[in-house]
Amino acid sequence: AQIRNVSSSSEDAVAKFKGQKGADGKFTVTLIEGDGIGPEIAQSVKDIFEAAKAPIKWESVDVTPILKDGKTAIPDEAIKSVQKNFVALKGPLATPVGKGHVSLNLTLRRTFNLPPYDNVDTVLIRENTEGEYSGIEHVVVDGVVQSIKLITKEASERVLRFAFQYAQSIQKKKVRVVHKATIMKMSDGLFLNTARDISKDFPDVEFDAELLDNSCLKIVTDPTPYNDKVLVMPNLYGDILSDMCAGLIGGLGLTPSGNIGDECSIFEAVHGSAPDIAGKGLANPTALLLSSIMMLQHMGLHDHANRIQKAIFDTLAEGKALTGDLGGKAKTHEYAEAIIKRL
Ligand code: NAD
Repeated sequence: AQIRNVSSSSEDAVAKFKGQKGADGKFTVTLIEGDGIGPEIAQSVKDIFEAAKAPIKWESVDVTPILKDGKTAIPDEAIKSVQKNFVALKGPLATPVGKGHVSLNLTLRRTFNLPPYDNVDTVLIRENTEGEYSGIEHVVVDGVVQSIKLITKEASERVLRFAFQYAQSIQKKKVRVVHKATIMKMSDGLFLNTARDISKDFPDVEFDAELLDNSCLKIVTDPTPYNDKVLVMPNLYGDILSDMCAGLIGGLGLTPSGNIGDECSIFEAVHGSAPDIAGKGLANPTALLLSSIMMLQHMGLHDHANRIQKAIFDTLAEGKALTGDLGGKAKTHEYAEAIIKRL
């Protein structure tokens, strides 16, 4: 079972990886191990990639935030590394609490008690630069605030074109826009109309649209009709719907994502740094592992991606070496070792 969560700020980023192999035949990838369980799950990825002989050399960078002019900033060294390598794998980063700090994840870009569904392979793509998350808020008068939902044709076109290209690249038949244009007539209306225009450039991909509330009801009732589709939607809807979908397949420990940019791309698990289980060997590294598979696919390394993915899915299906969040007793490294044995 797999839900891929792809957020895009790119025009034509599919398979647009620009990195070059070094003299040793390996690609260098920036590794941000992250906080909490980050180093433990990153170790699993490193061990499995080494066993699978994936041609990847890791360049670990520290992204401990620095304060620049009272604002959170990422150290230059980390940014330069991603710019040089064009691709990064990122563990979860805890959001510092306090004045002057904003979420580092924003700066860079629960386990659900529901029975997991089998045979789910839904792709969800969200616009991730605007919508309700544009941060345009103000007090009108005391006790009344306004938040502006910003939708532009430019950003909509970017993510919608990406959705169609991505659907083609992974052989999905249909692109479905999830929206509320019935109520948000102008903003979601612009997104939907832009989708209709873009769809004309992709005659071999079917296109339709669905209201967000209807999508939610149908996906939790039976997600399998969504297996042949790529869902694309404005920012807020994608943020919420992606976590809901993660719940359908067994929780946040399983859900990968990628932030695809024009130049550089960062792949990361959907979950956070899980401070409640950090350092105990209890973390499930699957989400980061599947994110690293998305990264290998993005880099054109499909053979390695398929081989490692099959080993992960077979290990999960066998069910003998599962981590605690999936009802098993295996430690993080024991689960990774079970995957390595299947490579
Ligand atoms: P969380 O995702 O870290 O944890 C939520 C629950 O899910 C916890 O009970 C945790 O133990 C469990 N969980 C998460 N990942 C797991 C895994 N791989 N294996 C097993 N169980 C797992 O969310 P939170 O506790 O709300 O956030 C903790 C910190 O992470 C905060 O500082 C938050 O800002 C940050 N965060 C970062 C990212 C990111 O880096 N992209 C995303 C979300 C939250």
